[in-house]
Amino acid sequence: MRLKILGSAAGGGFPQWNCSCRNCAGFRAGTLRSKSRTQTQIAFSPVPEVWFLVGASPDLRSQITMTPEFAPDPQNLGRSPIAGVFLSSADVDSVMGLLHLREFQSFFVFATPAVERFLKKENRIFRVLDRADPPVQWQMLSSRGRIGCHLSENHGAPPTFFYRSIPVGGSYPDYTSEEFRRSTTADEVTVGLLLEQDNRKIFIAPSLSGRSREWIKAAQSADLVLLDGTFWSDDELSQTGRTQKTATELGHLPLSGPEGLLEQYPKNAKGRKILLHINNTNPILDEESAEHRTVLEAGYEIAYDGMTIDL
Ligand SMILES: [Zn+2]
Repeated sequence: MRLKILGSAAGGGFPQWNCSCRNCAGFRAGTLRSKSRTQTQIAFSPVPEVWFLVGASPDLRSQITMTPEFAPDPQNLGRSPIAGVFLSSADVDSVMGLLHLREFQSFFVFATPAVERFLKKENRIFRVLDRADPPVQWQMLSSRGRIGCHLSENHGAPPTFFYRSIPVGGSYPDYTSEEFRRSTTADEVTVGLLLEQDNRKIFIAPSLSGRSREWIKAAQSADLVLLDGTFWSDDELSQTGRTQKTATELGHLPLSGPEGLLEQYPKNAKGRKILLHINNTNPILDEESAEHRTVLEAGYEIAYDGMTIDL
């Protein structure tokens, strides 16, 4: 399995257009040692020349055009190597990119029933995907057991890879309707994703609220873990003057503190662990900061755009 991180920042990217926090201002001035980052987007390839996206970021169009592997086959009109999209939440940052994929192209969308409903019923604009012939095909994403994905033409062949969702104790995006909240559970609106191929497991959770403990088992079992690195501290956003909401209120476990991710992460987990979905205010983006050093010394890698991993 090959995996590419096409974008590694949280919503707004880094630097963010309306932000003059220490990181964003320092990056613009050229005084901060860091890399610019687009909004979080992951892709994986279970077999050569077939790719699946995890999330559909607002930067998806440019992320696709900058990746040579995603170029459509000139010999096979209308065939893109992108076969489908796994959606791990109904958040604007992980679904907005679907609108970039609206050019009469059929593909699979893997989503929980709640996310599917959010896109079909709450937001009519996503019906633009139905213009494709055949239309976009929805596949159920469930935590009730792993589901096999068959890519072989040979009907007797075993599944190419398996997938299941992991409840991460998510929260509703604040723009969902009351009616939607009444008729769904928050657990289905933000999920982690567990992929499995040849006994190797990848756990992906760009949003981790910490309200459920299920993610710990998934992190323990995985060979590669891509995890929520949005905020360093709970009150980080209050310093920007744009919102008083805490990291926890926004559904993200901060990295630091006794209840934070670094403390909560299972000590017996063996897999490679990478932080992504990093907010522009997070001091780990500053490659000369103590926080940056702390996460590296704790054995984490910090994702950057273009990072490629073979498993
Ligand atoms: Zn900023």
